[in-house]
Amino acid sequence: MYELPFLDLPALDGASGTVRLPGSKSISNRVLLLAGLCAGTTAVHDLLASDDTRVMLAALQALGCALRTDADGVVHVTGLGGQLAVHEARLFLGNAGTAMRPLAAALAVLAATQGGSFELSGVPRMHERPIADLVDALRPLGCGIDELGAPGYPPLRLHGTAGGRLQTRQPIRVRGDVSSQFLTALLMALPLVAGEHDVVIEVVGELISKPYIEITLNLLARFGIEVQHQAWQRFTIGRGSRYRSPGAIHVEGDASSASYFIAAGAIAARDGAALRIEGVGLDSIQGDIRFVDAARAMGAQVRGGPGWLEVQRGRWPLAALTLDCKHIPDAAMTLAVMGLYADGPTRLSGIASWRVKETDRIAAMAAELRKVGAQVSEGPDFIEVTPPLDWRAATIQTYDDHRMAMCLSLASFNALAGASPASGGRDSLPVPGRPVRILDPRCVGKTFPDYFEALFGVAHATPENVPVITVDGPTASGKGTLAAALAAALGWHLLDSGALYRATGLVAQWDGVSPDDEAAVARLAAALDLRFGQGGESGRTWLRGREVSEDLRLEATGVLASRVSALPAVRKALHGLQLAWRKVPGLVADGRDMGTVVFPDAPLKVFLTASPAQRAQRRHKQLISKGIPANIADLRADLEARDARDRMRSVAPLKPAEDALLLDNSDLSIEDSVAQVLGWWEQRRPFDALPSVAARPPGASSP
Ligand code: C5P
Repeated sequence: MYELPFLDLPALDGASGTVRLPGSKSISNRVLLLAGLCAGTTAVHDLLASDDTRVMLAALQALGCALRTDADGVVHVTGLGGQLAVHEARLFLGNAGTAMRPLAAALAVLAATQGGSFELSGVPRMHERPIADLVDALRPLGCGIDELGAPGYPPLRLHGTAGGRLQTRQPIRVRGDVSSQFLTALLMALPLVAGEHDVVIEVVGELISKPYIEITLNLLARFGIEVQHQAWQRFTIGRGSRYRSPGAIHVEGDASSASYFIAAGAIAARDGAALRIEGVGLDSIQGDIRFVDAARAMGAQVRGGPGWLEVQRGRWPLAALTLDCKHIPDAAMTLAVMGLYADGPTRLSGIASWRVKETDRIAAMAAELRKVGAQVSEGPDFIEVTPPLDWRAATIQTYDDHRMAMCLSLASFNALAGASPASGGRDSLPVPGRPVRILDPRCVGKTFPDYFEALFGVAHATPENVPVITVDGPTASGKGTLAAALAAALGWHLLDSGALYRATGLVAQWDGVSPDDEAAVARLAAALDLRFGQGGESGRTWLRGREVSEDLRLEATGVLASRVSALPAVRKALHGLQLAWRKVPGLVADGRDMGTVVFPDAPLKVFLTASPAQRAQRRHKQLISKGIPANIADLRADLEARDARDRMRSVAPLKPAEDALLLDNSDLSIEDSVAQVLGWWEQRRPFDALPSVAARPPGASSP
């Protein structure tokens, strides 16, 4: 994870391996609401854990549904059985349209018949997303709905008195051309009042995003509600309909999320290597799976089966596309970015709904694609993207819109752009490539909290394009702490090269090999079976399967390390291992020779020092805090002896690289040192100064 308010992506040039998709947002929130409305308990498997599902879960809980998550992550929802348990609540729904619309309809219907008052609100952007068509459909039935802000927008209050009856004998009319979520909301709410007679819903105007209605009908059927429809214009919920829990239900992977990896495969899965996507397959019930057809039309080679897809680059550059995207509104955003790599202008139409999503996505997409160098024209319901002639390093705004962040991350494959088609894009590599800076990267939490980790797990870059910051310096100068803090802030990998020498010293000791037997120690170094913990295990280390987190840090191990590290064959044996750490999105490497020998081309080298007295004092404090007895004078003598040995040795002696920046941290806090190095790094970046706050694309206006 990254701590800065931005994430820099290096220019990428390959994609292979496997990604596992998180559950679909649309399915997750529908399933949660249906489970909350029906009687009994539903076990929801593979539920998406994201901002939007969190607000839905919180709302259900506030309404009196019992929720339990078991050890396997399965969420058990005990529903209301169609009977309100709580008659007053205020629900905050963030920016989740998939929670606001259906909950508004369900609570309007329940309050009107059973009595109650419910307030639904969200973030400011939620209050700019229209809901008038739903309000207009529900009011004539007798639902009490107050708009608490601007007419036609949330926040809303839904109210009524017990024993109220709804006028549901006439067909209920709803517009279908702004958002299909209004129809979905009615389809999920009205089975609650279809006991005595059929309830008919008629769509006025053209119905957009039909595939989302298919998901709704599919899931309603799983919960016992059969809906008949005529040409997607007239929907009939049969008399006597009653929600029934299916007992257990699986949420499939998100097909819209799959689009980013399908695109990555089409752009960058080359030379016979495929990108495999698990969690969603060609049998998906989600309409966005039809993105596959559009990606194929641009050149992607896609194979698939139940629950999986495999993607490879077919043609290069991609084929420019002209497409009406009404059937894949969300995934179509990904096509706009694929257009950066096409052989001509890509024109996407039928996307008017983009303007009322998390942000005005047409304006936002146009503004950000222009920043990387594309020519873009836009209209009320279309966008046309002409690939860049000159790519530029760009600072991408994301407008609190997860899809903007995920889409624009694909602009980082620009190291492949311009490679000649005849060579399959190979012979002109490596090209310099332009990094891409994504602002507010955490906005992906709406649907895909680990998106960037997943991307970095499959994306490759030539080492020259992967930035490295080296932190070298003497023992106990605070290198390790500084390097770890930098890596955490930037979201980069961390190489503690000292640990490799320490581990080599340890195995030599375990095996009874003398630390002076160069050939034998080098053999052990070359076969080092060392594992660094990730995620929840970060900070822990295993050697030959045995945890050595503590042993590695012992003073005695440091002394062993300093002896074996003087052996040229040992340094050589560990060289390749260290180079392999240079992976996207970047590396912070700490040691003695990171800047001089291992990563001589690192774009930023820091040489960290502190006075011997300071270093001895810090080490003393460290040991005492761990309950290890220590004496300052002895520690200082040890440090100085080790530094002397590191400085004097013939190979890779401890010294600052010529182009290293010196940082004496004797009088600096860790925070100051981190800020200093991040400041130096920022100066070397090709990006514009960070904009203060710009949450809206140019041209976006409040409705
Ligand atoms: O940094 P740390 O104290 O863990 O390193 C232990 C020893 O390993 C150092 O004293 C040094 O002799 C050796 N070392 C090295 N080159 C590196 C890192 C550590 O020679 N890049």
